[in-house]
Amino acid sequence: MERESTESDGLVEAARPVETRWWALRRAQSFKPVSYTCPLCSLQLHAMTDHVLLTPEGDSERRRHAHAACVRAARAAGRLPSRAEWEVTQPRAPGRLERLFGRSR
Ligand SMILES: [Zn+2]
Repeated sequence: MERESTESDGLVEAARPVETRWWALRRAQSFKPVSYTCPLCSLQLHAMTDHVLLTPEGDSERRRHAHAACVRAARAAGRLPSRAEWEVTQPRAPGRLERLFGRSR
């Protein structure tokens, strides 16, 4: 039986090829003479400015450099949830703890 779930949609989620559910955010700054394109505003971002490294679901292959201000604004708007923030929005799925403690009667 399928349960109706509109908000936290594990089923829909799985059907989409690339859906980032959470982001690892880390402040970054380097002395490399390079520029990146901020994925949030599409403007240039110099590596030497204080910025944030966005890593979708911890996948370092897809990490992007974004302006600290853009990240702040996006998070204020409820986007770019961290893993911990995403996890609390999830329905209680039988997870590792459940398996450990759930049926241990
Ligand atoms: Zn930006």
